[in-house]
Order: sequence, then C-alpha cells, then structure tokens
Amino acid sequence: YVQMLIDPVDRIVSILDEIQLGAASLARLLGVAQVPDDREVSGREPVGEQIAADDVRFSYVEGRDVLHGVDLTVGVGERIAMVGPSGAGKSTLGRLLAGIHPPRTGAVTVGGVGLTELPLDDLRGHVALVTQEHHVFVGSVRENLVLARPGSTDDDVRGALDAVDALDWVDALPEGLDTEVGSGGRAVTAAQAQQIALARLVLADPHTLVLDEATSLIDPRAARHLERSLAAVLEGRTVIAIAHRLFSAHDADRVAVVEDGRIAELGSHDELVAAGGSYAALWDSWHGRG
Ligand code: ATP
Repeated sequence: YVQMLIDPVDRIVSILDEIQLGAASLARLLGVAQVPDDREVSGREPVGEQIAADDVRFSYVEGRDVLHGVDLTVGVGERIAMVGPSGAGKSTLGRLLAGIHPPRTGAVTVGGVGLTELPLDDLRGHVALVTQEHHVFVGSVRENLVLARPGSTDDDVRGALDAVDALDWVDALPEGLDTEVGSGGRAVTAAQAQQIALARLVLADPHTLVLDEATSLIDPRAARHLERSLAAVLEGRTVIAIAHRLFSAHDADRVAVVEDGRIAELGSHDELVAAGGSYAALWDSWHGRG
C-alpha cells in the first residue's frame, strides 16, 4: 500500500516540477505573456488580425531602454524578416510583438486592441512565438498537444501531427498517442520534440507567428525534414521571422533592419539593396562570403 501511495505521489511531484519549469516555456511557445502586472483585460474585440507596434519602448533594466520607439505595421498574410547586428533588439522586439513582454510605453496591438488588453486564452489564437527550444512536457503525446487547445479530439491531434509530418513515427510508437514522452518517458529525438512543439502550434492555430530562428543543434538531415514541417505551420499565416541568418531575409515581403533598438530600414529586399544602406552592406558582405 505504502508503495502504491508513494509512487503516484512521487510522480505527481515530478510532473508538477516539470510543469512549473515548463510553464514559462509553454507560455512563450504559445505567445502568452506571463500575466504582466499591467495586464488589463478591456473586453474590446480585435477587428481583423493586423499586428502593429506604435512607438514601442522597452527596458529589461530600469532606465536602460533596449527599444527606443519602434513603429511597425505588419500586413495580414505578410512575411517580414527582421535582421540586424547582434544585440540590436530583434529578439526583444519579437517577444513584444508576440505579447510575451508588455511595452514600457507605446502599444502592440492586434486588430487595434492592445495585446495586454486581451485575455491570455484569446491572445494565443492571435499570435504565438516559435523558438527552437524543445517544449516536450512529461505526459503522453496527446497530452503534449491538447495543452494548446483543451478539448481537442483525437482527430484534431492526429491532423496536427500529420500537418507537421509526425503522424507516421507517432503511430509507430508502442502506444501511439498514449506513449509517454518528456523526461522519464520515452526519449524522442530533438527533431521529434520540435515536431511535437510544431504540432501543438497547429492546434493553437494563431493567425500570426513570430519565428525566432536560432542556430540549429539538429543534424542537417533532420533540419531539412524540420524545415518542411515548419513551412507547413507557416503556410497561410502572417510571419515575422527574426533572421539570424541573412539568407532567410530575401524571400520575405519586407525586411526590417533593426539597429540599436530602432527600425533603421524597412522595405523589400530589392528596395533596400537599391537604397545602398546597411542592409545593402550586410547583403554584400554575406554574399561575398557565400
Ligand atoms: P541576437 O541577434 O544576438 O540574438 P538581438 O538583436 O536579438 O541579438 P536582443 O536579444 O533583443 O538582440 O537584445 C537586445 C538588448 O537587450 C541587448 O543589449 C541584450 O543584452 C539585452 N537583453 C536581452 N535579453 C535580456 C534580458 N533577459 N535581460 C536583460 N537584458 C537583456
């Protein structure tokens, strides 16, 4: 009896640990802010899905702004690439556009409503952040996905897995959707963990994705496979991609060059190359190396 009691308790404790550790990551993944102090749900409904930053300033440390008044309006369905030197503020701006941090002053809005005015559950249907951190939680594959949308049916879950090309290997697991993953559960590869995270996004179904592309720790073959999964997730959505690698930028509708916490240049790849500014210089030097 004692053993029967202790085991589940141990397990619950370890799951709680994981969930607490994971909550911040999950919030980030789903583009949900961690209930910032100044969140004031207004009840206003966004009209449309246009994301806009209006004179956004932000600091991590009081008195030291890292964003110095950013204005940016992202068209619905548009693909914007953010480029710029390390430390310029790209990831910070991305997190603000996804509602992870509230601006110190100014506003980030979706359909005219401040992201901080929206209930957290609504926010995740509008905009989410995608990073390469692995977000697999202790629990079954199914549980890992339905976190994004409680009440999802097995058909929804299987559809999401199929969309990211993960259904075959999940079906091949000993217990399919019921297979336990996460620490203590079955080991999944880094690429499979990413696919679980991407399938979770498909279920959350946000209109806009902020993609913070990081250097990949995944082997090249898995990376190519994942790129297909990611492309399926991006399809049909507005995408703001932080391009740490420049080559992602020239496919975008517009490129925003972030320098010293400001948008220094904004336009299509061709426009910015023709303008001969810092993007043109970046492009030249990258191309030259290529
Ligand atoms: P990179 O291309 O190197 O990722 P970035 O353009 O994305 O750079 P950010 O990561 O947004 O730049 O950083 C902008 C500034 O904010 C930098 O000076 C950085 O040191 C600072 N910063 C970023 N994250 C934090 C944090 N969590 N706490 C304090 N300062 C931070």
